[in-house]
Amino acid sequence: MIKCPICGFSKYLVVYELDYGIVVQCGKCELVYGANLRLDDYLKCSYNEAYYKKRKTKDNAGYWDYFGIEREDRKKIAYSHLQILKSYGFRKKRILDVGCGGGYFIELAQKDNFEAYGIDASEYAISKAKSHGIKNIMQLDVLEFLTSMNTGLFDAICMFDFIEHVPNPCEIVKCSLNKMKCGGIIMMITPRYDSAYANGLDDEYMHYGRDHILYLTENSLRLMISKATNCKFSICNVKEAVKNTEGINSWAYKYYSEKRDKLLVTIFK
Ligand SMILES: [Zn+2]
Repeated sequence: MIKCPICGFSKYLVVYELDYGIVVQCGKCELVYGANLRLDDYLKCSYNEAYYKKRKTKDNAGYWDYFGIEREDRKKIAYSHLQILKSYGFRKKRILDVGCGGGYFIELAQKDNFEAYGIDASEYAISKAKSHGIKNIMQLDVLEFLTSMNTGLFDAICMFDFIEHVPNPCEIVKCSLNKMKCGGIIMMITPRYDSAYANGLDDEYMHYGRDHILYLTENSLRLMISKATNCKFSICNVKEAVKNTEGINSWAYKYYSEKRDKLLVTIFK
């Protein structure tokens, strides 16, 4: 992939070189994105067991131990995401978690009386989640699913640490909004590439990896959403949302205030 996934321009500056491709900055809209990644190859095979266990190098993108030692922390993150969703007034609604991974958010939302469904490209993550008893989750291609599903099924569509993995973000946002109920929201969380944390790390930035295609800033997110829709939206740091949400635990605030500087985007249909 050479063309910018947001504006389609094909000239760029190289920001960072990886063994399997380059991270570049679009010469027109300034989006930073992975180019020359062997996407087909990657998307088909890489969200496997090795991805979710024991990250070793930048090439070997993924988690240290997503279903093991990270389990409790993953649940806390899911809890904070659920509190943010509820802060928009959503209760007992039908929601879809796109890129649901191991289903930690789905599990919590279902316990909180939401009718929650999840989809993910990873066969491994879905089978692990099912083995933990989580219901209403499926291994599916996201855009295929969004395109084929009926309109008005969901009150909210959640995308936590998802959009940075896809080469077609505008299409996914557009399709999600088209199919959602009026009055619904998309709630999206993604790493912030223009954070002080990211700038300080330079080449050691933890999110450089073959699984991430988009390195989004507040500006590039604004541009991407504006390309996809005329709907109103808001963008803030997740730590601001966590701070302003009643009942949130201090762990989540600490998590988002320190190294994990992420952006929260809410799009209102
Ligand atoms: Zn561009």
